[in-house]
This record gives sequence, structure tokens and C-alpha cells, in this order.
Amino acid sequence: MTYNVDQLGFYGTYGGAYIPEILHQCVQDLQEAYLPIIEDPEFQKDFRTLLRDYAGRPSPLYYAHRLSDRYGCKIYLKREDLNHTGAHKINNALGQALIARRLGKKRIIAETGAGQHGVATATVCALLGMECVVYMGKTDVERQHLNVERMKMLGAKVVPVTSGNMTLKDGTNEAIRDWCCHPADSYYIIGSTVGPHPYPDMVARLQSVISEEIKWQLQEHEGRDYPDVLMACVGGGSNAAGTIYHYLNDPRVRIILAEAGGKGIDTCMTAATIQRGKPGIIHGSKTLVMQDEDGQIQEPYSISAGLDYPGIGPMHANLAKTGRATILAVNDDEAIRAAYELTLLEGIIPALESAHALGALEKMQFKPDDVVVLTVSGRGDKDIETYLRFKD
Ligand SMILES: *Cc1c(COP(=O)(O)O)cnc(C)c1O
Repeated sequence: MTYNVDQLGFYGTYGGAYIPEILHQCVQDLQEAYLPIIEDPEFQKDFRTLLRDYAGRPSPLYYAHRLSDRYGCKIYLKREDLNHTGAHKINNALGQALIARRLGKKRIIAETGAGQHGVATATVCALLGMECVVYMGKTDVERQHLNVERMKMLGAKVVPVTSGNMTLKDGTNEAIRDWCCHPADSYYIIGSTVGPHPYPDMVARLQSVISEEIKWQLQEHEGRDYPDVLMACVGGGSNAAGTIYHYLNDPRVRIILAEAGGKGIDTCMTAATIQRGKPGIIHGSKTLVMQDEDGQIQEPYSISAGLDYPGIGPMHANLAKTGRATILAVNDDEAIRAAYELTLLEGIIPALESAHALGALEKMQFKPDDVVVLTVSGRGDKDIETYLRFKD
């Protein structure tokens, strides 16, 4: 049994490519091209060089002394917040932009929620001299204003989307609509392990540099290359996929994923897709989806724009179904508390998304010699106003 994708793009019963006819050719071309490109030494050389010299990798694996004391175990933080542009998203954006260039595409489309993927994509488009259009729900444009200004300064066109509740799902719908109109010359850089095959697997592979580094970094710190527990937050699932990729089939490693409980999973204001969702199709993939009895998508809610999504990567839906991963819902107030705790214990202001992974710590039972690696997916500069609003 494996937790990786199969030949047809499925993880167990989830995944696949459920796409409109007009995208069939370009999705099939990408399915055939992505593995040969990623495995090509020339691509690897370009990608690795940019990850190192441009994004600043490897990101540190930091032993958090005071946080470890607080929870009675050994906690290491994987510092994706220290990457160029402030989150793990740059790993994927660099990789996919290089793939797009190989495929001869000059126009890049992206969706964004909190704006981190939009900023990462606008950044790599500036770097590689490509045209960039970013679709973003109007609600997110307003609550993540600084990231909108960054994208504009980087030369991207930001299109505010006014359908639905004007957040990530709606931005994604509009990006797919644009892609359908320009399938020949445009490449869609999806920001997470979602979308039709091969996107979930492609994004997971590009982000897997995170767990590749954790292996040798833990070997240096602890004299063994695996932790007892891996923890990450899940929106679509890309920072989690990168964190667990090289440990998926290692039963010594427990996987704990934190999804956004919002105001509570028993309320209608939640984005806890794994616990509240049912099998359905969203944005080209069969996965767990928050939906009503008629199959209409329910509007998700989270204080964190990056987790405010009614779907989840098919890889993660399968990890939950098979019991390989434990999923915990962390509510808004728990995430805020955890963000203040990390800030005051370690001097690190985490992104609100990452604060959900931190908020899962108090729901866990640890033994003193447990080695825990928790990924801090991004930095909290974009969330300062929200944090201050909730300061008690
Ligand atoms: C986008 C984002 C997330 C959520 O996306 P995943 O694909 O689940 O990783 C989490 N943290 C940060 C900082 C983000 O920018």
C-alpha cells in the first residue's frame, strides 16, 4: 500500500482530473510532461539553484527551547517563514514557473487567498520576465491589502472577484475560467495540492524539498533522520504535503494535520473540510467538499484567508480516510492564542495559517523524549492587524 498518487492520478478513491472539454488537451499535455521535466537534471539544476540563491533555502530547522518546555517534548520548527516572500509558496511557484517556461508558455494565471501564492507567483514572473494575472476574491483583496500592493508593485494584474463570498474558492473559479479561454498560451500555477491531476502530485513533489531537508537536519540535531511526530496546517495541503512527503510510508512517524475550525466545527462558520466534508468534485478533483444535501458548495469560514477553502487536497482526504494522518480542527481563538504564545516564547510571529498548527499542540499528549517537527508555513506580517484586534 502506498499513499502516493497512482497512474491515473488517484489517491485511493480521491483525485483524478474532472475538467471541461476545452482544458482536456493542455491538462493531458501537462500529465505527460511533468515527471520527465521534474526528473530532468537540467531542470533540477535550475530549480535547486533558485531555491538556494533566490529563495534562501535550506530553511532552518530550529530547536524551540521555551516552546518545548511548555509542552514537555522536543519541538523543532521548520522555518518556511524565512523564505523569500515569507512562506513556503515560493518553492512551488519557482518550480511551476520553470515548468511553464519549458512548455513554452509566456502568460501565467494564478489564484490567491491570503495573497501569499499571488505574491510568490508575481515574484517569479518578474524574475523570469513573464506576464502575470492573479484572481483574488474581493473580501480577500480587502483583508490582505498589503499583499495586493506587493503584487501590483511586482508587475502583476490583480483581478478582484465578486462572486460567492468573494474568497479563495471564487478566485479559483475565475482563474479556471481564464484558463479555459486561453489554454494554448497560458499556464495556470495552482498554489496548493489541489486541482486536476497532475497538480496535486506536482505541487507535492515541488514542496517535498521541505521533508528532504528535515531528514538531514534532524540527523544533525538528533542523530536520527526521522521525528516521532510531524505537524502542519492544511488549507489545500501543500505545506503539509511538503513536510510529510518523505515520511509518508514510514510508520514510525505520526502525522498530525490542523484544519481551520473557524468558530467551531458544529457551527456553520467553519472551514474544517476533512471533518465536515463529503465526497464530491471541486476545481477538477474528486475529494472531500463542504456541501449541502443538493451538492451545492457551502461557503467556508476561517479567520485565516489561507485556510478559508471548502475543499482539501485528494492526498490528504485519503490520508484521513486510511487513518495515516490524524486531523484536528483548531478554532480561530485557539489559533490566535497559539500565535501570541509562540511570539512571546520564541520571538517568532507566525502567519495565522501556521498558528493553526501551533494551536494543535495543546490538543496532544507528548512524552518527554518525543521529537516533534512543526512547520511554520509563513510569517505573520500580513496578519498583524488581525492579531492586534484580538489582543486581550
Ligand atoms: C497558503 C498558505 C497556507 C495554506 O496552504 P497549504 O497549501 O495548505 O499549505 C498555509 N500557510 C501559509 C503561510 C500560507 O501562505
